[in-house]
This record gives sequence, structure tokens and C-alpha cells, in this order.
Amino acid sequence: MVIGLIWGLIAVNFNLEEITIRWIKPWGTIFLNLLKLIAVPLIFVSLVKGISGLRNISKLSSMGLKTLGLYVISTLVAITIGLLLVNAIKPGNTFPAEKQAEYQEKFGASLFEKQAAAEDFAEQSPLQFIVDMVPENIFMATTDNSKMLQIIVFAILFAIAMLLLPAKTVEPVKNFIDSINDIILKLIDMIMITAPYGVFALLAALVVDFSGDVDLFKALGLYFVTVVLGLLIIVVVFYPLFLKLFVRKAKFRKFFKGIIPAQMLAFSTSSSAATLPVTLKQVTSELGVDKEVASFVLPVGVTINMDGTSCYQAIAAVFIAQVFGIDLSFGQQLIIVLTALMASIGTPGVPGGSIVMLIIVLTSVGIPIEGLALILGIDRPLDMLRTVVNVTGDSSVSTIIAKTENKLDLSKLCDK
Ligand code: ASP
Repeated sequence: MVIGLIWGLIAVNFNLEEITIRWIKPWGTIFLNLLKLIAVPLIFVSLVKGISGLRNISKLSSMGLKTLGLYVISTLVAITIGLLLVNAIKPGNTFPAEKQAEYQEKFGASLFEKQAAAEDFAEQSPLQFIVDMVPENIFMATTDNSKMLQIIVFAILFAIAMLLLPAKTVEPVKNFIDSINDIILKLIDMIMITAPYGVFALLAALVVDFSGDVDLFKALGLYFVTVVLGLLIIVVVFYPLFLKLFVRKAKFRKFFKGIIPAQMLAFSTSSSAATLPVTLKQVTSELGVDKEVASFVLPVGVTINMDGTSCYQAIAAVFIAQVFGIDLSFGQQLIIVLTALMASIGTPGVPGGSIVMLIIVLTSVGIPIEGLALILGIDRPLDMLRTVVNVTGDSSVSTIIAKTENKLDLSKLCDK
């Protein structure tokens, strides 16, 4: 990561941008593709293995309900932190008016496509999100990385059917899935050998891509700081408390040390789905979470639990309202809480996944979505940071669930 950043800075200052983009960036893309490539089969196999390994259906429903409950609670806390900060700091009030027109022109065009997608979404039945969760064709679902939720639904149904049948009948499939699981884990090991080079390339290219937009930081500085502060509070205040509440003796230092590789990968790839293989590995081997729990809680979390994203969405929505001089009432802020919660569930774990969903948050309280053009320019670094938070949140919840299920190896997280 550091060498990538340094190379990026050298490239910007010594005219090596073209070489970096043409010869180094592709390696980053290849690495990212390899990770995404493994995401769909990994989610399917690990879920089926995790659920069909449970003793019975009631075990699944109790773990499922607990997981959903904790995910919703952590997301609500994250949104509240975001709203409190943005109302206290008021970053939108200092935004220079002349920059508004400039950014509108620069980034407004790229909004059209996203706007159309969001409008389609808004016109649908309120139940459409449930309809969308159920695939009509499993092969089509597996060809689209943003349809992970459909794969999860299919995997859960498939595994439940396996649980309901006599063990002898499903044994061949069970063995098959076990063996595929081992193969996928080996594949991940192979891909991760290239991680240092991939991460180097991703970061070098990022610095070069971003160098033109540095002055954006000046105008948007306070907004940027507000989001970073929100994310920081979630990670260093909220998660430790959340974890302590359930796992008394846990040392957050150990927790952090255990998941740092996943956080670094989340930071470099901006995708919690692409980071899943490493999150799974770290959580089971370093935090002591049982495989059975991790392989259920994490794939679900990657698709529906996004604390960093939801905190950011709340801040971004109110920031844009402030820039446009719109005063949001308490009721409207409450609507932001609810829509940001739904939006973070619907956000796919891919780079920039939350932008389309942010449009829905904005429209729900009548904030002009053109305002999005103001923040798009510096979205990437914020995306990297909120993805780190998303992954940390999933890891915290999986640790807590493991503890409540008596499936946590406490020696890993506690002092001897
Ligand atoms: N990039 C984020 C993730 O993968 C989603 C987002 O906030 O855009 O978790």
C-alpha cells in the first residue's frame, strides 16, 4: 500500500502518469477481478455448508433473527452518529457558492444514468425489494455481482431443503459442497499470493487518477472531515462498546490486530464483497469465530450490513440540504434514518455501490439530487474508508453472534 502511494506521488510529479495507467493499473484491475470472481461461488458454498451443518431449523432461525437484529441496531447507531455530527458541524454552510455551479457542470452529466435507475426504483411497489430478492433464474443471478442477495436467498432455501431431508439422501451433495469449499479456499490462497502486487497497482493508479481533483478537497474539506470523523467514531468508540457489551473479556486491540488484513484489503479495493474471502479467513483464524457462524453471518453482512455506508449517506444527504439552504425538520431527519437503513441494505458491496441508493435517500425528503454532483468528485477516498467500516461491522457482529451461540474461542480475543 505504502509503496503504491509513493509510486503514485512520483508518477504525478515526474510525468509517469501514462505509464502508470497503461502498465500498472491493469494489474490492479486483474487482482480486483480475481477477488470478485470468487465472491459468488464463495457466498453460495459457504452459506450452504454453514446452514446445512446446523443441527436443525430452529437453530437457523434463532441465529438468523439475532444476526438481522444486530445488523439493524448497528446500522441505526451508525446513521444516528452521522446525523448528530452533520447537524453539529454543519459542513454545508461553509461551501462556496461559486463552486456549486462548477461542480454541477463537471460531475452533473454522470448523474443521469444513476438518476434513471433510482427513478425506476422509486416507482416500484414498496414490496419490490422482496420481489427482487427472489431470483427467477439462478443462473442469471450468478452472472451479476450486484444480485448477491438473490444468491443468498437461493443458498438458504437450498440448505434448508438439505436440512429437512434424511442425512443419507443428501450425503453426496454434502461431500461435494465440502470439497468445492476446500477448492475455493485454496483458490483464495492462490489469489492472495498476488495481493501485495495487486494492492500496489490499485493504490498507485488511484493516486494518479485522483491527482487532478486535489482542489476539490479544499472546498469539500469540512464535509470530508465530518464523514471521516463519523466513521472513526463508529470504529473506535461504538464497535468496542458493542463488542464489550456481549464479550466482556474481549480486548479490542486483539480484535483489531486480527482483522487488519481484511481492513487493508477493503481500503484498497473499496468493495466489501471482494474482501469477503479475507474477512472470512481472519474472523475464523484470528478472532476465534466458529466456521459455522462466520459462514452464515459474514456473507449475509456483506450484502445487507453497511454501517459505514449508512453513516455516510446520512451525512451526505444533510450536507447537500445545507448547501442548498434547505432546513430539514426532525421528521425529515427521521425519514432519512429509515431510508438510509433500507438504502444500506440495498447497496451492493462494490465500489461506489451506495451512490444510486443515496439518490433514493435524497428524494425521500425532497433534496435536489443534482446536489450529488457536489460530492461525487471526492467519493472514492470516502468509499475506501466506509468500506473498511462496513467490513469491521460485519466482523464485530459475527464475533458477537459466535459468543451468544457459544461458538467463540475466547482465547484468541482475551488475555491469557
Ligand atoms: N463500497 C462499499 C462496500 O463495498 C459500498 C458503498 O458504500 O458504496 O462496502
